[in-house]
Amino acid sequence: MDRPERSHGAETSEALRELVVFSILRESTCAECSEQLRRGDWLMLDEKRRPLCLACADLDHLVYLPRGDTALTRRARKHSKLSVPVVRFSRARRRYERQGCLVEDAALSRAEEECVADAGVRAERRKLRAVVTDRADRELAASMADAICHLFPSCPPEQATSIAAHTAARGSGRVGRSAAGRALDPDALTLAVIASIRHGHTSYDALLMGGWSREDARRAVRGEVEEVLERWRQPPGSS
Ligand SMILES: [Zn+2]
Repeated sequence: MDRPERSHGAETSEALRELVVFSILRESTCAECSEQLRRGDWLMLDEKRRPLCLACADLDHLVYLPRGDTALTRRARKHSKLSVPVVRFSRARRRYERQGCLVEDAALSRAEEECVADAGVRAERRKLRAVVTDRADRELAASMADAICHLFPSCPPEQATSIAAHTAARGSGRVGRSAAGRALDPDALTLAVIASIRHGHTSYDALLMGGWSREDARRAVRGEVEEVLERWRQPPGSS
């Protein structure tokens, strides 16, 4: 990559860090999970300026919206608790250029619906989405949803399904079959559930958006996360 540090100069304050994701030009390695990141992959820098993959950066629940449709982008960002610009270094112009942004799936859907309603063209909707789910993904997602419901009997089934769909889609493309087995590991599933609770049931995203470091934000919401986890571990109807 072309040293994203350049865009973060002395102006970066300790407390308020710019939330931005880089589309990299050179290979890198996630400082937390050691995943190899290739040209075109995304990474962000943590508060110590170490490269992190999106999963470790807690941003992998977001979906990518390429730039180009300004109305859609404006609406999606408005509806998303967390929206993060994606930039890439242009060697020709020697500066970072915005490629698009990462927003919440539900925010993008809502924005699309509004745009479609405006345009009055139903067929547009399908074209807007570049998210492709193949059959293997769906099978893996179904097994994962079952496993999540087993570990967390009081987790709402639609939430288990959405956690599984998201996690399966993430694991399948790059890591292949071995990832499927690992994806059903209780620890891995619990991590996926924790990430989902953080984003969906706490102020975590708002804290990140407000410039908090992941570490501080995680600490701030830890109690809330534990509470939901504990509730979901109980048999349904026990509380
Ligand atoms: Zn990582």
